[in-house]
Amino acid sequence: MEDGDTIFAPATASGRAGVAVLRLSGARALDAVRLLAGRLPEPRRMSRAALRDPVSGDVLDEALIVVFPGPASFTGEDVAELHIHGGRAVTAAVAAALGAMRGVRPAEPGEFSRRAFLNDKLDLSAAEGILDLVDAETDAQRRQALRQVDGGLARRIEGWRGSLIRSMARLEAWIDFPEEELPNSVIRQIEDDLSSLASELREELGRSRRAERLREGLCMTILGPPNAGKSSLLNWLSKRDVAIVSTTAGTTRDVLDVHLDLSGYPVTVSDTAGLRKTGDSIEAEGVRRALRRAADADMKILMVDATEGADARAVMLERIDADTVAVMNKIDLDATPPPSPWLGISLVTGAGMQALMDQLTNMAADRLDVGSVPVLTRERHRVAVADAVDAIDRAREGLAEAAPLEFPAEDLRLAARALGRVSGRVDVEDLLDAIFAEFCLGK
Ligand code: GDP
Repeated sequence: MEDGDTIFAPATASGRAGVAVLRLSGARALDAVRLLAGRLPEPRRMSRAALRDPVSGDVLDEALIVVFPGPASFTGEDVAELHIHGGRAVTAAVAAALGAMRGVRPAEPGEFSRRAFLNDKLDLSAAEGILDLVDAETDAQRRQALRQVDGGLARRIEGWRGSLIRSMARLEAWIDFPEEELPNSVIRQIEDDLSSLASELREELGRSRRAERLREGLCMTILGPPNAGKSSLLNWLSKRDVAIVSTTAGTTRDVLDVHLDLSGYPVTVSDTAGLRKTGDSIEAEGVRRALRRAADADMKILMVDATEGADARAVMLERIDADTVAVMNKIDLDATPPPSPWLGISLVTGAGMQALMDQLTNMAADRLDVGSVPVLTRERHRVAVADAVDAIDRAREGLAEAAPLEFPAEDLRLAARALGRVSGRVDVEDLLDAIFAEFCLGK
């Protein structure tokens, strides 16, 4: 199993807080609690105790403690949690007392989850889901991570792997009986199964891009001529004073980033230098950066000033594409209804802002929504599934060309292994045994 050390680490962020939680895992976790608290509480029930330095007998803190004897614990080992007062000195004192115990040491990063994985408490994708859940800043990110934490992705992977292994088992059954011809009906069945699996996996790969984007967040830029109100919009969006709003044209010279939660969807917005021809070289560099940023952006807001007239707008029209929301700002100064495709807003009165937010939210949802099934969320998953698809395609070719059955069978085994990498379950033998057991060989 794992190495024999008992590990401990703060489970809460460091710094001043009401409570800090120190977590312990390993064979000596319960002993450590007994040494500090003088007794061991009932399993899974929180109880109050003074923690004392086992050597000096000094009281370190008044704490709440709870123990989870293995294997019914996060790591599968004996686990204890010490809920102490959240201050640096308190945490340091208790950690020092723990560190002084034989066989007890600070945990390495990720070591609790690693032990949970090694003890079959978590699959790899669930462990990654925990990371994502901790990092989640918006609701859509939280929901996606949660679907992974409960092993949902691993279960889908197991389903695909199971279907692969059924095809493999059918092939292998005939490899063992070389004197018999593999009937066409069996080949056709295998081909059908593999082709529908391959298309399902391909679809999944398509979806995974969105899921990855959801983890990272979309990039949105605000573009438009100087003084249109771009910085004012960024301020409005972020509800903070991050960009300088000024009445002199060309003051936003660089690109400013603001992270937004757009109805649950993570979006990073950058305000960019105004688009106009300029003699000022610093500003010119700002304009270049703005255009480069706009080219990479997932979404764009193109903003013009309602008082500037139709000609100024006309030159902007060519910049409008499917990723762009075209807004005409300052409609408080000019009441003429904006022509299509412009959406009229006023940052001063708030007019049209709800419509703008709705449109942005819909665009983000279009680009990030993956539905409610657990999906591949990382490059690691995508690479593994793409490898599996390649191997399945090779197997299908092998079958179509009537190659010796060992070849497609080996490709299917590789495909099953590649899928297994997502959840960290790479052995196919176990599944194979189970499936073979249901098979009537020689039939
Ligand atoms: P940017 O150069 O595009 O970033 O434009 P700013 O955000 O700096 O705004 C330029 C000027 O327009 C500032 O004086 C703002 O106060 C003003 N402004 C922004 N939005 C509106 C609006 O909706 N109505 C009116 N009347 N003025 C606005």
